[in-house]
Amino acid sequence: MTISDLNIKGRRALVRVDFNVPLDGARKVQDDTRIRRALPTIKTLLEGGASVVLMSHLGRPKGASEQFSLKHIVSHLEGLLGIPVKFASDCVGDSALDVSQNLQPGEVALLENLRFHPEEKDGDEFFAGQLAENGDLYVNDAFGTAHRNHASTAVIARFFPEDKAFGKLLEGEISALKKVMSKPAKPLLAIIGGAKVSSKLTILENMVDKVDKLMIGGGMAYTFMLAKGGKVGSSLVETEMVERAGIVLEKAKRSSTEILLPEDSICADSFSAEANFEVFNSDEIKEGWMGLDIGPKACEKFIKAVTESQTILWNGPMGVFEFEACSKGTFAVANALKEVTEKGAYTLVGGGDSVAAINACGLADDVSYVSTGGGAMLEYLEGKTLPGIAAILD
Ligand code: AMP
Repeated sequence: MTISDLNIKGRRALVRVDFNVPLDGARKVQDDTRIRRALPTIKTLLEGGASVVLMSHLGRPKGASEQFSLKHIVSHLEGLLGIPVKFASDCVGDSALDVSQNLQPGEVALLENLRFHPEEKDGDEFFAGQLAENGDLYVNDAFGTAHRNHASTAVIARFFPEDKAFGKLLEGEISALKKVMSKPAKPLLAIIGGAKVSSKLTILENMVDKVDKLMIGGGMAYTFMLAKGGKVGSSLVETEMVERAGIVLEKAKRSSTEILLPEDSICADSFSAEANFEVFNSDEIKEGWMGLDIGPKACEKFIKAVTESQTILWNGPMGVFEFEACSKGTFAVANALKEVTEKGAYTLVGGGDSVAAINACGLADDVSYVSTGGGAMLEYLEGKTLPGIAAILD
């Protein structure tokens, strides 16, 4: 179900991309990572003799608005592609069809923000049919919205039963996740960190008996410390999650999965970069102090676990890496990931703030794959079927 399975010459490829990029006050593209990740698909289609009609959402508009218009990214896209890009002032109806139906092979058009129509998020079938009129074949390359059952990401595929495919980016994302989730090279280590244990518990529950080692860092580690009967001072905890955390620990024991929790923590007397810092054992944190990073002993153990693994999934920072004093753990793990990647291990980073963390370390190019889809990746790891993927496979 990839582009190479489609007959593309002389046809209009309608491509769902994720151009939901940050814009600055002057409406200029601030970070074009998502646009650049879609270029291989666009170029492959153009080189194969197709014309390309791009559709995307941008932000969370309530109805049509100048602020969220995709016209703001046209010149940036033209710069990246090196050819002019036609713009349609709506994604459906005459203004869209005027552009898409007159497109010649080798030409590119961008349709206006899909979310100017509430029918997009509602997964409205009639609206999906209107969108479908803009192309002869459908390519989904938007991993960031693959977990949504929207008109342009899933419902539209029904209108192209024989002519639908994953784009290069989506293909890469799926193959990266498969390397970790089905038949990975062993030992398999999952490193899960970040702030909210409630947002990651389902992943932990789903993965605990599939991995050899599960490393838990970041704020969520303290809910696990509490489940083990530790004292965590004022550290971030979600008391209503303690029971489920305990069940994960039990399940790990039954499936012989090694759980690595931070033995010690760098603690602060307030949530601030200027606080006083002291190291405590993570289950003996003094009242009034909070764990904001893994400590030196934990760091050493975590690095060892990384270097002993062949496949590693990393989701979520080990501490409040935004504060310099609490960034050592995250940076040390990122560096260890770089080292094992060089030695041939497979390393996948993604979801939540992990991409920001690996970028902050300057090591995004030194791991095997950095996923573009936060929520989509998390739902995949939870074991859910993603509608955007299912619609192409159906
Ligand atoms: P997430 O989006 O769940 O991956 O969480 C990322 C956020 O978790 C980052 O902004 C970190 O600052 C935060 N974080 C990591 N460790 C801790 C901690 N020990 N206490 C509070 N927040 C944390």
